[in-house]
Amino acid sequence: MIFNYGLRKRLAAALGWSTVDKSLVLLLFAIPLYLQALIWSIYVMSRTDRDLLVDSDMLTIMMQIEILLVFSGAAIALWGLHLRRRKPELRFYQHLVIHFFTWSMILLAYSFGTVSYPAGVILVGAPLFGFILLERRAVWIATMLGLTALIGLSYAATLGWIPYAPILRNDLSAASSLFWLSTTLYFSVPFFIVNVVMIDELLMWWRDREERVKRLAITDGLTGLANRRQILAQFADELQICQRKGQPLSLILLDLDHFKKVNDTHGHPAGDAVLRAAARALQGSIRETDHVGRYGGEEFMVVLPGADRSQAAQIAERCRDQLAATAVSLPSGKILHFTASLGLLCSAQPQVDAADQLIHAADEALYEAKQSGRNRVAVAGLTAVPV
Ligand code: GH3
Ligand code: MG
Ligand code: MG
Repeated sequence: MIFNYGLRKRLAAALGWSTVDKSLVLLLFAIPLYLQALIWSIYVMSRTDRDLLVDSDMLTIMMQIEILLVFSGAAIALWGLHLRRRKPELRFYQHLVIHFFTWSMILLAYSFGTVSYPAGVILVGAPLFGFILLERRAVWIATMLGLTALIGLSYAATLGWIPYAPILRNDLSAASSLFWLSTTLYFSVPFFIVNVVMIDELLMWWRDREERVKRLAITDGLTGLANRRQILAQFADELQICQRKGQPLSLILLDLDHFKKVNDTHGHPAGDAVLRAAARALQGSIRETDHVGRYGGEEFMVVLPGADRSQAAQIAERCRDQLAATAVSLPSGKILHFTASLGLLCSAQPQVDAADQLIHAADEALYEAKQSGRNRVAVAGLTAVPV
């Protein structure tokens, strides 16, 4: 997490950009690299001892190539800017940019030495950068071609067919080795840092996104409670723990009373506001170790691990009480009150394989609470307890 959220957000946005826009980003990184090489060449050219350090004729050629790269890079970028609106998904453009980048880098790597630090950093960094931003297949092709070319050039240079690092003077003195070390760092360190920062930020963004997706998958969008899948998973987990520890487990199924009437009389948004208020009230009525989730439309499930019959009855009664005491103010200025019926199931020795039966028993108790007048708690196996 090197940078603030801004860069990560922009990076995330960049992943959704068009093909042409993404290719332009690559050029945005490539052109400064050519400029960096050009600045280096101009600097070396201006040194009086340049003949001790480099082959001046080769350096002149390289300078011309670097100027050509800056201008052709800028021309390709201009074409990209022109394409942005007209053909934002033109894949040819991406291939052009990838190959322009790859072959220019191979050329620079060859002139400074194929088996050098900058060549290695670029060889690893550029494909990583490409895979993040661009189409996988195109990057794979360019990477494989580039790697083959680098290996071929290295072998050809070793066999003496072509010179190795043509800019370099073969008879390096101690002073010029220091110059070459500085050159090596000048080219590789900025590239390395940019790559590491980008990859770090991207991985952070992926982790953030994974967290968000995970949260969304288990959360009910309206109330923010655990959704049906999650509360059932929590119930199954707690059942297993309670069975292993030999602890009791209680379960509440509750359903809002005459909820259809709320929707019919005050509208669906009012119904939604009631559901949200009910969720908040339930959350405030349970212990930290308990779980509550939205089981269905206006049905909720509360899991009370370790709660015996009397503790569970107390919590269920508190839930019922809190719901009945909740006031929902509507935009119209009206205040709504509502109630719920609760079915409570207590199991002294819960068994994992009895999960469905336990839910069924709680559901039957809920039905009983409805039948005997609503706004009350019915305990499975006992008759409904009037309030
Ligand atoms: P009872 O006391 O017997 O439970 O009566 P009821 O009207 O609450 O029962 P019923 O099951 O007939 O009504 C449930 C209503 O809940 C029907 C449906 O329109 C409403 N509902 C379900 N999900 C939502 C939701 O997300 N938002 C809103 N506003 N209403 C919902
Ligand atoms: Mg209902
Ligand atoms: Mg219902």
